[in-house]
Amino acid sequence: MNPGASIDSIKGVGDVTAEQFRKAGIRTVYDLILTLPRDYEDFSNVGRIADIQPGSVTIKARCESVSTRPVRRGMRITTATLSDGTGKINAVWFNQPYREKQLKTGEEFVFTGVFEFSYNRYQLTNPSAEKAAELPKEQHQLMPIYRMVQGLKVPLLRKLLTELKPLMAMLPETLPGFIVQKEKLMARGDAVLAMHFPGEKDRLEKARERWAFEELFSLMLASQLNRQEMSRLEGYSLQFDQKIVRDFVQHLPFELTNAQRIAAWDILQDFQKPTPMNRLLQGDVGSGKTVVAGLAARQAAHAGYQSAIMAPTEILAIQHAETLNNLLSPFGVRVGLLTGSVKGAARKALYDAIESGEVDVVVGTHALIQETVHFAKLGFVVIDEQHRFGVAQRQALLSKSEKMPHLLAMTATPIPRSLALTVYGELDISILNERPKNRKEIMTKIWSPNSRPQLYALIDQQIKEGRQAYVICNLIDDNPDNERKSVEAEYKRLNVGEFKHRRIGLLHGKLKPAEKEAVMRQFAAGDIDILISTTVVEVGVDVPNATVILIEDADRFGLSQLHQLRGRVGRGAHQSYCYLMVSSSKAPSQRLKEVEKSNDGFYLAEVDLSLRGPGEIYGRAQHGELNLQVANLADAKMIQRAQRSASQFLESGEDLLQYKQLAKDVERYQRLTTLN
Ligand code: ADP
Ligand code: MG
Repeated sequence: MNPGASIDSIKGVGDVTAEQFRKAGIRTVYDLILTLPRDYEDFSNVGRIADIQPGSVTIKARCESVSTRPVRRGMRITTATLSDGTGKINAVWFNQPYREKQLKTGEEFVFTGVFEFSYNRYQLTNPSAEKAAELPKEQHQLMPIYRMVQGLKVPLLRKLLTELKPLMAMLPETLPGFIVQKEKLMARGDAVLAMHFPGEKDRLEKARERWAFEELFSLMLASQLNRQEMSRLEGYSLQFDQKIVRDFVQHLPFELTNAQRIAAWDILQDFQKPTPMNRLLQGDVGSGKTVVAGLAARQAAHAGYQSAIMAPTEILAIQHAETLNNLLSPFGVRVGLLTGSVKGAARKALYDAIESGEVDVVVGTHALIQETVHFAKLGFVVIDEQHRFGVAQRQALLSKSEKMPHLLAMTATPIPRSLALTVYGELDISILNERPKNRKEIMTKIWSPNSRPQLYALIDQQIKEGRQAYVICNLIDDNPDNERKSVEAEYKRLNVGEFKHRRIGLLHGKLKPAEKEAVMRQFAAGDIDILISTTVVEVGVDVPNATVILIEDADRFGLSQLHQLRGRVGRGAHQSYCYLMVSSSKAPSQRLKEVEKSNDGFYLAEVDLSLRGPGEIYGRAQHGELNLQVANLADAKMIQRAQRSASQFLESGEDLLQYKQLAKDVERYQRLTTLN
């Protein structure tokens, strides 16, 4: 059998099974082999119920009784009594009603889960349950767990993989030989075999190490190749004009921070090079990215080039256009605003001005990338909140220039260094890690529900003084099991309760974009005192008069997200406050205390990365597309190893195309991670 053969050529795979596999994206024998376990369960130390201690446990037991009852709002709880002859424990599953049928068979199961104190008693919460008889004998220690393929039975999957064992062992090496040697990596075939059929932990570790290395090596190679390709492109070289830049800086109503100076310097240096700039400007919320972009646009205009600045929403675009107009019009630089709301004759006139070069700086939304927009001489592209745009959209804007324009991508999401290397490896990075001097530190405080009235009094006091407040709640109809509040309920509650004398606004993801923008605009204009919102509240929106943010159920958010939300306030000269309301009166978690202690987005991002992994930080979608099966983007050491090897490979002069599979993987990563 060959790995490229279709899945139904395996003995035991009929039409139905093949279809199920195909639905899960598994089409060939090779696809199946490379569907690696997502985790392992350790059955090497099955314990006795009599000896059980709180924490992770594995027991072998039968179910004595089991029942399912509805609780509230569609939630169902299945409880069971498990016994192994030495004692009994309770197990509980949430929304897994099929457990009842599974356990009623009376067979012996191996349960793995956490034994913990909750709902006033000790119990095993959401344990996995594997039929003891089905546990493969020869791998009695570690058992691989596969992501579920709808309708497919795990024993069949194991049987098929067992048949494919000889094929796995023969899988050809994909990495260059000298790298395998130098890094002392397990051979590819052995690694795949070991991951599906792990014996000892050591062997599995070596196998996973090899796989993680391969994934990261491909990723790093992709970004280095993207970088090389960029460096071969011809761009516009814009001469640095010291007088122009100095005039601009002297005209500012404030002093640039050092970080802003350095970032601006980096950009102006890049502008002079014959190759296009490809730079990411990372700066915490409120760190002042816009003025840096404005300075660069000033220099570009002086050199005779237009700038395009794209923002993800209309309100952000309007805000940028106003800011930039204030900064640039004193120097005769003309700023235009192009959004969906600019219609009819006004739109036509703007198109003409862009095409004739009458407008120097065009700020806009996605409207900028429409085919009808033609620039006279686009030399500089800024993409704000870059992660909110897809590759195709960035590409569309860049392609409006004859040669590749200089690109400045901006983001307020601090990304730990190791992560930035993998995903933004092809970019040069500038960081604004300094707050403008006139800002007061935001005061952050964890708050317990018992003291809600006192907190509301504090918030009301701020409003009395003319300030505004945000109240952030979790998503509508999210998991009803916990104490989350829906924004709508909160809106109703506060409207008749504590804040009935205040003007309250409501913002959530179910509103239409235009409705959202309208609410945001009202808030920005000061027509709303308290904005109750889910996390959709716009990241870049600058409402300096808002000085309080209350985050409900703060313990349900990630650190980076809390920090982002906190950045809605503290944008003006007034002292600002962030209140983290915990969902119960239990002692607050270490994570929340970190947010209370630190105002440093980069620090919190590092902590978040180590606690929750990378998916949470830079968007699940993008992370998901990379489809890393084993590699951990939080593993800075491994990333460095892969980085070094990728450089060595490129320096070795070997041809990537001679490594077919590797070249294919690298090509895919290049497409996924490129900004151009
Ligand atoms: P962000 O990096 O979040 O996009 P902005 O560019 O919106 O930040 O800047 C936030 C606010 O800070 C703006 O009102 C801007 O005018 C102001 N600002 C920018 N740089 C400085 C500085 N160096 N000193 C004082 N205020 C500044
Ligand atoms: Mg901004």
